[in-house]
Amino acid sequence: MKKIQSLTEYHARTVREGAGVKLSRIFGFNGDAPLDPFLLLDHFHSDDPADYTAGFPWHPHRGIETVTYLLKGSVRHGDSLGNKGVIGAGDIQWMTAGSGIIHEEMPEAGDGINGFQLWVNLPAKQKMMDPRYRGITAEEIPVVTDDNGVTVRVIAGTYGKIAGPVKELVMPVSYLDVTLAADTSYPLDVTDGGFCYLFDGDAQILDETIPTLTAVQLSQTCTITAGKSGARFLFICGKPIGEPVAWYGPIVMNTQEELRIAFEEYQNGTFIKKK
Ligand code: MN
Repeated sequence: MKKIQSLTEYHARTVREGAGVKLSRIFGFNGDAPLDPFLLLDHFHSDDPADYTAGFPWHPHRGIETVTYLLKGSVRHGDSLGNKGVIGAGDIQWMTAGSGIIHEEMPEAGDGINGFQLWVNLPAKQKMMDPRYRGITAEEIPVVTDDNGVTVRVIAGTYGKIAGPVKELVMPVSYLDVTLAADTSYPLDVTDGGFCYLFDGDAQILDETIPTLTAVQLSQTCTITAGKSGARFLFICGKPIGEPVAWYGPIVMNTQEELRIAFEEYQNGTFIKKK
């Protein structure tokens, strides 16, 4: 029997973003959107505050959702909707920029940081929807542990009968944080497409060894098996939108004209449609 598919892997590349934050970009280099509806995945992980305290000072977003999940450290934020606060370890910030949000995201020094930011694209008819902000604390996220060495934090979507706390999603995305004990297998059930991002330990998918800090595109259900040191990964699925992507920096629209208008509005102070 032939191997059913070969794996498409995305390996971390070090980039500087915001005011000079050093981070690993897993996928999402401008204009390149092979994991529709997911545009970008950044992983910020460092024990040296000099790598991250410059932060992401005030900047706009339009046409997307940004999903920040923190495992360690804290990030102070504020936005044009009037939200203000600190995201801590285990917390999630699910922000639907829609027609426009201007915000700042500033990691606090502390003793290191570990976290992720995912960008989810919005369909054309929702790109200009009213912006929406949701902050979910670690305590609100169900943790499901079974006897076989599988631990799942259910952030969005469902795992078995357990639903994640992020509901009424514009884009029906499932977002799980999965930890496997050594030599444990887990079925990556994929309906419409998605990816897993291995960030700790090592694992195999379809007999291929996946290095850490690697995302693997998934177009059908397959099994992941942790190696001798166990594995931890994000397992994220969503239905492709299949529309043209016009992307520049923090704004993702369908046409170049919509992008031009967005940046013109940002320049002339009419970017924010709803406060
Ligand atoms: Mn941002």
